[in-house]
Amino acid sequence: MGLLHRAVIATLPLVPGPVMRRLSARYIAGETLDQAMDTTRAFAAQGYGGVLDVLGEDVADEAEARAALTDYVRCTKAIATAGVDSYVSVKPTHFGLRISEDLCFDLYAELATRCEALGQKLRVEMEDHTTTEATLRVFRKLRERFQNVGVVIQSRLFRTADDIAALPEASDVRLVKGIYLEPESIAHTDADAIREAFLKDVERLFQGGHSIALATHDAPMAERALRIAEEQGVGRERYEFEVLMGVQETLWTTWRDRGCRVRIYVPFGPGWRAYSQRRLRKNPQILGHVMRNVFG
Ligand SMILES: Cc1cc2nc3c(=O)[nH]c(=O)nc-3n(C[C@H](O)[C@H](O)[C@H](O)COP(=O)(O)OP(=O)(O)OC[C@H]3O[C@@H](n4cnc5c(N)ncnc54)[C@H](O)[C@@H]3O)c2cc1C
Repeated sequence: MGLLHRAVIATLPLVPGPVMRRLSARYIAGETLDQAMDTTRAFAAQGYGGVLDVLGEDVADEAEARAALTDYVRCTKAIATAGVDSYVSVKPTHFGLRISEDLCFDLYAELATRCEALGQKLRVEMEDHTTTEATLRVFRKLRERFQNVGVVIQSRLFRTADDIAALPEASDVRLVKGIYLEPESIAHTDADAIREAFLKDVERLFQGGHSIALATHDAPMAERALRIAEEQGVGRERYEFEVLMGVQETLWTTWRDRGCRVRIYVPFGPGWRAYSQRRLRKNPQILGHVMRNVFG
């Protein structure tokens, strides 16, 4: 981490709330579900789908994990009421994965049941490598009962080719480079190597009969992914783009205008400040992106 990044991160707790809120407004929809739904509806009016994320991770106890489930159930009802094309996406440690794998499974299963009744899907997100094995176990077990549950696969990890080979039939996969900086003993750390791994994973997933949410803002890499789809004769119903709110908007328009489905990830929640600071500390590259966006 560079000196400037370290200095900025160290002073973040001192930045007044309203200033922090203004800086993060581009990336975070607000504190409440109503604000998140206003944002989702505005994107829907421009032809974009949505993904709702209640900010949170690493809950301290079962009560907090159950409270997260309650928040997510409210999200699914709000999506149904608004009649928009959106779904919920949940971090395993927000549902207590580090406390109990059984608890985490039960909460996802409860949410999957609710989503199924509303005709919605949900996604199990992927966190750092200490959770990968358990997360995939939870996902595979969910898929024994539910068809409407997808997962996330991180191309930077060396294990990913094997994980793709072990996916349940016709899985719905969000493919990402991986936001967590992992040790070089288990993951690619070079940007070009991660890009090549991502494209290999696109090939593997399409060949395996899976669907892909290409979650990236790397335009040249995305073009190559689209070429792979074309070469393999994969129809648009088997892939879409997923992007982060506030990041590279011109790309969304380009893809949408070319007839690709584009979904925007809309994070919200009262814990946005602590969450943002934790994420910036874990991956200072994000700070670089944010500073470039704010200061040009
Ligand atoms: C919808 C969605 C869901 C995701 N879910 C997960 C997940 O469950 N687990 C996981 O490990 N990772 C997740 N990620 C993050 C992903 O792993 C990457 O870290 C992130 O997408 C950046 O990689 P990139 O492919 O966009 O390429 P990069 O080369 O990192 O970025 C390309 C360009 O996009 C811009 N950019 C990228 N990220 C940001 C940012 N945060 N803020 C401002 N500008 C930015 C920059 O201009 C950058 O130059 C998700 C990403 C998306 C889009």
